[in-house]
Amino acid sequence: MNRAPVPSSVPTQQDLDTLSLQLGRPVRDVVEIPARCVCGSPLVAATAPRLSNGIPFPTTFYLTHPTATAAVSRLEAAGVMAEMTQQLHDDPLLAQQYRQAHEHYLAERERIRNLANLEPVWEIEGISAGGMPTRVKCLHVLTGHALAAGPGVNPLGDQTLERISTEWTAETCTCETAWDHSAEVPVADLSRHVRRLKEREAS
Ligand SMILES: [Zn+2]
Repeated sequence: MNRAPVPSSVPTQQDLDTLSLQLGRPVRDVVEIPARCVCGSPLVAATAPRLSNGIPFPTTFYLTHPTATAAVSRLEAAGVMAEMTQQLHDDPLLAQQYRQAHEHYLAERERIRNLANLEPVWEIEGISAGGMPTRVKCLHVLTGHALAAGPGVNPLGDQTLERISTEWTAETCTCETAWDHSAEVPVADLSRHVRRLKEREAS
């Protein structure tokens, strides 16, 4: 693909359709596209901390690119989350950086909340995602955060990106074959969508 003009972080309808095709389900309440492929396609969706149906939503940054999510899933299946949690126990500096990543996550959620003109979401106050600040529960969350924030903010997200770099990087476009661009865009079935996201967050 040719390099597109530098796109805005504000999602267009085309961005939202692409996200729905990438995920195979309709996306809702996306406030920002905080990371894009070199071709311009979304890599990460930033979702409002309270969904339009009223449900609090702590996972602000969601990794959407199918090639990246599949590579991260393989790391999870290989037991990397337990390994990284052990790293946090063994390395005080890493643990401190990870706590700072947690704080950054919460600050970014506040920024997204303000962008979305929402009242404070008290239900998830102080709660980030992915196991932060002391555990590693979801590498997709950490990777989404690392892509959104740039290198040097989430050390375990950066480490995950490094470990999948033989399969996928943000600098090499695989979008052409990563999802079906000609498929019908999934339409809203919000109840199921929210339930599945909540199950994923709780797991
Ligand atoms: Zn691309």
